[in-house]
Amino acid sequence: LVVLEDVNKHFGELHVLQNINLTINRGEVVVVIGPSGSGKSTLCRAINRLETIDDGRITVDGKDLPAEGKALAKLRADVGMVFQSFNLFAHKTILDNVTLGPIKVRKQKPAAARERAMELLRRVGIDSQASKLPAQLSGGQQQRVAIARALAMDPKVILFDEPTSALDPEMVNEVLDVMVDLAKGGMTMVVVTHEMGFARKAANRVVFMADGQIVEESDPESFFTNPKSSRAKDFLGKIL
Ligand code: ATP
Ligand code: MG
Repeated sequence: LVVLEDVNKHFGELHVLQNINLTINRGEVVVVIGPSGSGKSTLCRAINRLETIDDGRITVDGKDLPAEGKALAKLRADVGMVFQSFNLFAHKTILDNVTLGPIKVRKQKPAAARERAMELLRRVGIDSQASKLPAQLSGGQQQRVAIARALAMDPKVILFDEPTSALDPEMVNEVLDVMVDLAKGGMTMVVVTHEMGFARKAANRVVFMADGQIVEESDPESFFTNPKSSRAKDFLGKIL
């Protein structure tokens, strides 16, 4: 569904993505893990074209990423993204946050978009908060709204960039539970996270990045119990 071929990206002197080759199949949950600065966020942002690449090729559903305009808006709807910092529209209600994209980009009728949004908010357990503003919700609730907002676009894949790392510990599981449900429901997901529990429960594959390269790719169990590379061993030694 998402294919990266020989993707390279520099920030000035820094070679932040080095010959990245990665295929994410439909229905697959891929966890991306690695030290700070290894290029995980840049990789996600490139798939969504929030960053351009210097060379190589990225396709979603067989098509090259569009550069601008309506096609780019559609790509961003097809490739949902959930950020560490929630990124909800602060001055819009929870319900409006979820309906805006579907109405503007997917051209849904407002009534239909609202109905679907309420169904998704129910699914993530916050339908009772629909008329509130984001600031009136806890971090865990805001992140669940962000997930509902991504889902409302009927995305082909959702990219999660450290979705729980800004949360107080007691809210981490309420967000991970929603993500595990999505994974079990067959959603294609790329998840940057160090949450091993999530990886073990939901991931089909773990991709370990270091210094802009994919150093290792394996199933979660072998990655966590028996990492092959010394970089991965070092890293796991630090986080576990
Ligand atoms: P973290 O775990 O801290 O989130 P990461 O693996 O997501 O790290 P990236 O955010 O992709 O890493 O950044 C990789 C490298 O690129 C870092 O050294 C970062 O400082 C640099 N970088 C990221 N964005 C930019 C930018 N817009 N301009 C210049 N350098 C950048
Ligand atoms: Mg990052």
